[in-house]
Amino acid sequence: MIYVEPINRLIRDKKAVKGEKVNQKYFGGFCECGGIMYQKSWFHYDSHSILISECEKCWKNEFMNFNGRTKTGSKGKIQVIERSDFREFIRDLLSTSEFEAVLSKSRGESYNASALSRAKKKLEEMDLPFDEVLAYI
Ligand SMILES: [Zn+2]
Repeated sequence: MIYVEPINRLIRDKKAVKGEKVNQKYFGGFCECGGIMYQKSWFHYDSHSILISECEKCWKNEFMNFNGRTKTGSKGKIQVIERSDFREFIRDLLSTSEFEAVLSKSRGESYNASALSRAKKKLEEMDLPFDEVLAYI
């Protein structure tokens, strides 16, 4: 699983799930460094939920699985794509021409329309919102 922080999506089985940000400081467990973890975002799919929490001391991110509202006990470290990694993350999903078309579009430059529509299709197949990708790339 990968957490794509700028657009608040969790990628699992090549599909992005939209998260619900937690804006208050809710307890999310203790980190192995001894710090307190705070809830960051909730993801719901089927009857499952995943909570992502972040340590206030070492900034480590962790996921925790829930079945409905019951903890299943499984948790672990999660890979986080931060703002500074976002462009590389998108580059890896697309071909060179598709990536360049997206980049040009985001800069308001002329772009290859068929490459852009292929890029859009690929991103939509993963449930990644094209407009948000454009805004953060
Ligand atoms: Zn920590």
